[in-house]
Amino acid sequence: MHQAMLFEKLIDSRVRCNTCQWHCNIAAGRKGVCRMYQNVDGILYNLNYAQASSVAADPIEKKPLFHFYPGSQVFSLGSWGCNFHCGGCQNWEISCVNNPLKGGQILPLEAVRLAKEYGCRGIAWTYNEPTVWFEYTLDSAKLARESGLYTAYVSNGFMTTEALDAIGPYLDAYRIDVKGFTAEAYTELANIKEWKGILDNAKRAREKWKMHVEVVTNIVPEINDDDFQLEGIAHWIKEELGELTPWHVTRFYPHYNMTDVQESPVESLEHAIDIGKKAGLKFVYAGNIPGHESENTTCYSCGKMVIQRQGYQTKILALKDDSCAYCGANLNIRIDREIKQ
Ligand code: SF4
Repeated sequence: MHQAMLFEKLIDSRVRCNTCQWHCNIAAGRKGVCRMYQNVDGILYNLNYAQASSVAADPIEKKPLFHFYPGSQVFSLGSWGCNFHCGGCQNWEISCVNNPLKGGQILPLEAVRLAKEYGCRGIAWTYNEPTVWFEYTLDSAKLARESGLYTAYVSNGFMTTEALDAIGPYLDAYRIDVKGFTAEAYTELANIKEWKGILDNAKRAREKWKMHVEVVTNIVPEINDDDFQLEGIAHWIKEELGELTPWHVTRFYPHYNMTDVQESPVESLEHAIDIGKKAGLKFVYAGNIPGHESENTTCYSCGKMVIQRQGYQTKILALKDDSCAYCGANLNIRIDREIKQ
């Protein structure tokens, strides 16, 4: 157990956790919604510190992050539990648990060492919600940055502003889910009614902390595939994050408690791409459809392909810094000098 960083003591040995927007008010001996923070005699502890459920050297494109060090390998770490309880969770074996299960302990220094040993350019906290081992990700992010590695959160975006501001100085990328654009959609998908703080976090990550932000919407038939949801998300990205922010619309596959819902038809993803483009977004990608032509990055200005992707094979064709090598248009891409062409 590791003492939590963001909590306040209340009367009768209760505590309030301020790590995510649930702000759980927890009695002594009890746990919060995520099951990974526990009140022990009036002090809040995180049960997950360094408890890794999943570890891999992944292509950064798998997160998905398409405009952030394209073609690089990222040391990817997940723990246990989640502050959302999504019926269609694809990682439910690690997310929907009441305690950290048997796994490997990887302390922050070891994570940095392993990232380098496996030739990774950075570290991502992914697979489950990073906020539920917040203290660990913060300690690790500081060390990673000192070691010259990039850092990325793959998140549902439900952390508090306090948590975001604590880790903001040490995070380079924020890959955030925007699951819908109404309380009804968020409630149906994740049992979350107050969802707009998620949007505020994405904006704050970009504006205050200068993180690279990419947005994912998993398109679930008859829940968030209507024009109202999709146009709402697309216009919000354009207006609040900017037209160069990548939006990934990904195919839903039945998982966990939503095996009665069909996988999303390819046409509904292509319709979402159209909506994104009509809203003015320059980069909209279909995900979970290997070989789909939208996987490539095409310059919106001259129309030429600048990054080619086939599955997780990425080939940089024509970048000059963060811009198109053909016409100079800004493509909002963070890239290493040594791998650019
Ligand atoms: S991190 Fe967990 S305990 Fe803390 S507020 Fe969120 S759900 Fe509750």
